[in-house]
Amino acid sequence: MGFVEDELKQLKDVISNLDSRIKRLEQSTSGAPSSANKDLRMILIGPPGAGKGTQAPKIKERFSCCHLATGDMLRSQVAKKTPLGREAKKIMDAGGLVSDDIVIGMIREELDNNKECRGGFILDGFPRTVPQAEGLDAMLRERKRELQHAVELQIDDSLLVARITGRLIHPASGRTYHSTFNPPKDYMKDDVTGEPLIQRSDDNADALKKRLATYHKQTAPVVDYYRKTGIWSGLDASQEPGQVWKNMLNVLEDKKSGHAAGLLSRITGSN
Ligand code: ADP
Ligand code: AMP
Repeated sequence: MGFVEDELKQLKDVISNLDSRIKRLEQSTSGAPSSANKDLRMILIGPPGAGKGTQAPKIKERFSCCHLATGDMLRSQVAKKTPLGREAKKIMDAGGLVSDDIVIGMIREELDNNKECRGGFILDGFPRTVPQAEGLDAMLRERKRELQHAVELQIDDSLLVARITGRLIHPASGRTYHSTFNPPKDYMKDDVTGEPLIQRSDDNADALKKRLATYHKQTAPVVDYYRKTGIWSGLDASQEPGQVWKNMLNVLEDKKSGHAAGLLSRITGSN
């Protein structure tokens, strides 16, 4: 991307972020139900390796809600070798998407039965298609609830290979490490339980290429879906995790958006 196109894209993001903030503030001053209810209800969108699984546990701890990662749920089915797990593994290793009905059903089941979700939820890796986003809207409408935030972790594809090929996970909890960027205290052991860490079978350069192609084709339209609402925010996910977290809190606690404000001050030269 050239300099002018890059600046143009950044400006559009600033305007879109500010537009989202204005709509949120308008909703809160008009007394719309979303602001009356203190539960956090949000989704995290971003390509594989953007940092969704790194940020989500911190959000969960801060806001006492549940963290639902459809990828973790599917991997648990794969580990148990259930019929769904056997089918899903082939699709996951090929970098494709499991059917909308299956993942919508998994989320519905959790929202209905997981007690942690009574304090709200973070959806990580869902919705990944527009029909999934529509399914989520319908589920929330039935419950007379609405989403408050759709946070997009924005990062260039070129940075993701190193993140994905070095990722280590603790399958039981979904905790994520990185061999270089975030190593565990003991080699290949989970910091909390001491259990072994593994590398995901789809965390290789070949599968990543396919997963990124799937992301751009099927999940980028989901970003556009939420950009049209007042709840979308974009964060620069190429920064170090602590900075991403600070910007995340700015969005979730509805303070001045760090990303938008930072970009705006760079562009306008103001502080
Ligand atoms: P996602 O859930 O979006 O696929 P993860 O949170 O699992 O991504 O992050 C992918 C890998 O990159 C992990 O190994 C994680 O430790 C590492 N990582 C996450 N955020 C950052 C960051 N801001 N900078 C560097 N590495 C990161
Ligand atoms: P993740 O752990 O989010 O990287 O997901 C791993 C894989 O699980 C993806 O590459 C998909 O094959 C599958 N998957 C996870 N979430 C979804 C979803 N919402 N819709 C369809 N497939 C999914």
